[in-house]
Formats: sequence, structure tokens, C-alpha cells
Amino acid sequence: MMWMNIIYLTAGFVFMEIFSWAFHKYIMHGVLWNIHKTHHGHSKGGYFELNDIFSLIFGSTAVVLIILGSIDGFDWRFWVGAGITVYGFSYFILHDMLIHRRVKVFDRPRGKFLNGIAKAHRDHHKSNKKDGAVSFGLFLVPKKYFSKD
Ligand SMILES: [Zn+2]
Ligand SMILES: [Zn+2]
Repeated sequence: MMWMNIIYLTAGFVFMEIFSWAFHKYIMHGVLWNIHKTHHGHSKGGYFELNDIFSLIFGSTAVVLIILGSIDGFDWRFWVGAGITVYGFSYFILHDMLIHRRVKVFDRPRGKFLNGIAKAHRDHHKSNKKDGAVSFGLFLVPKKYFSKD
């Protein structure tokens, strides 16, 4: 049924944001800080950061789900994997292209929503340390960032 597929896809997307918020807050700024710190100004330079390994792992998980879910028709695994993929693309466009400008295609973000997301993430980067950082989500950030100033 089509509407169930949309629910699975949305669930994959929402799950990824909640998961990456928690993973970022408790694991990346925890036991895996040595990897994640390459995204907080402790990089050896060059285009890629060791931190990119996380994108590879999450991306591979989505690919595996999509493959497993499309062997015998398209079951929920396909749609959840598709939701994770949509999240990954949104993350890349917002976090890597718009906020960090690793690929300079877009101008600086305009509009209340994109501005709020960018502001929140810039606040996250104000700290280059393992402890004491704020705003761990991409979309899940304190409401105050979306009020105009
Ligand atoms: Zn961080
Ligand atoms: Zn960042």
C-alpha cells in the first residue's frame, strides 16, 4: 500500500535525525571524539576529514537496506533505506554545502528556516572541544534559532 511506503520513508528520515542527534551528542562527543574532532578544526587539512567515515557508514547502511528490501518486491526495508538516503542528501546539502561550503554552489543561506539551522550549527562549532558543545542535531535544534533577531 502506497501510504505505508510513505510512512516507512518518513520514519527512516525522522529516525536518522533522532539517531544522529544522539550519536553526535553521546558517541561522537564521547568515545569516538578522536574521529569526530577532525570536523571541529582538528583536521590535518585536505578535502576529506576522518569524520567523513560516519557518512560512509550511514550511507552503506542505507544501501544495504535498499538492496535487501528490493530483492523480492519492495518491502519496508527499501523504503526505510530510501528515507535514510533522502536524509543523507539533505544533510549533505545543508551541512556540507550550505553551512560548511565544502562545495561552493549555493550562496549563504537565506530565509528563517535555513538561517536558523545554519546559526544553530555554527553555535555547535563555536566549541572545538569534546565537552560543552551545543546543538547536536541538524533539524532538532533549540527553537530560539528560528526567531528573528
Ligand atoms: Zn560535533
Ligand atoms: Zn559541522
